[in-house]
Amino acid sequence: MNRIYLDYAASAPLAPEAVAVIESIIPSHPVGNPSSLHKEGRTMQSLLDKAHTTVAAIFGVQPTEVIFTSGATEANNLAIRGVLTAWRKENPGKKPHIVLSAIEHPSWWAAAKNEDADMTFVSISKDGVVDPQDVFAAVQENTALVGCLYVNNEIGTIQPIAEIGKGIEALRGANKFPVFHVDAVQAFPYLNTHFGHMHADMITISGHKYGALPGIGALITKKGTPVTGIAKGGPQEWGYRAGTENSLGAATMAAVLDWTDSHRDELTKHVKSMQETLERRLGQELPKVRILGQRAIRAPHITYLWLPGVIDEHVVHKLDLEGIAISSGSACSSGAMLPSATLLALGFNDQEAYGGLRISYGRFTTQEEIETFIEKLKEILTKQLK
Ligand code: PMP
Repeated sequence: MNRIYLDYAASAPLAPEAVAVIESIIPSHPVGNPSSLHKEGRTMQSLLDKAHTTVAAIFGVQPTEVIFTSGATEANNLAIRGVLTAWRKENPGKKPHIVLSAIEHPSWWAAAKNEDADMTFVSISKDGVVDPQDVFAAVQENTALVGCLYVNNEIGTIQPIAEIGKGIEALRGANKFPVFHVDAVQAFPYLNTHFGHMHADMITISGHKYGALPGIGALITKKGTPVTGIAKGGPQEWGYRAGTENSLGAATMAAVLDWTDSHRDELTKHVKSMQETLERRLGQELPKVRILGQRAIRAPHITYLWLPGVIDEHVVHKLDLEGIAISSGSACSSGAMLPSATLLALGFNDQEAYGGLRISYGRFTTQEEIETFIEKLKEILTKQLK
């Protein structure tokens, strides 16, 4: 059975550019620690150097501003702990404050909650969008960090990042704080994530969401941003992240980012056409199903369905048996069986916030696959909704 994969927001299929990197390296039996002085070590170091240079150019920064991590979760943790550690050094005995949107990924809000810091959650509109004025109003004298994700990973709504970034820059004036961090994981392939556009001080990205090997991501930090490395024990990644680097992973990530950056328009057009077909056909075939965030500007690769009275996990399992992979809500929260923070922020009650199906598609998705998905979903839901 040919599988239909509609879970790109959780992890994208390995891209040909990543496969090409792996195939070019395998014949030489990759071995060596980039810190070693011998030829094998130097080969790994040169892969890593090239990856830093490629990634930096895509975001409009210097190679020394790219810190490779194991993924976005680690990058978000590094951003939060790193900025608060730097703030505490400059403000001994005081408690820092964090401003964050109510729809951050769990790797952001859970890491922030783990800190000894005051927090202000900025609510969202009923369409799933943060109002920049609410962010500015939340900033206090002791605000160390402001965080807002660019594209919500569950419903796909786009947040007004450039406006927030410009406002924070103005509020900060000549001071170092607050730092503005953007989780750009779901935004990179489709939106303008250049630093000059976003007015961010730091951003997080994740390789496996775009077709690189899993286990690689990055925190990209503008020079001069107050951040202290949290993993100690070596000088790797410019002293911000000790530990032997994942050179091969970084090389695959650089290759897929590079491809995506130079094919962004055609990729976006392709993915948008999948979204249009999916949402038009859903409206025709399953009019009872609600698409969340539909009135907001959304990224082209996510559609979140909310179905009154339907147990989403059952639908996911039935579709899986039919050869179709989708998520129930966010993949990250579905394993833990927590109500979706995004749905709670949208005003759903605890019970309702468990419901929902996230369909996410990408580079290799076809119109036929979308049509097959609609047919199968209709079959399953017609039985369930009877
Ligand atoms: N932030 C966002 C917005 C995400 O969608 C995800 C993945 N669900 C992450 C962070 C965590 O990414 P990773 O798997 O690379 O840790």
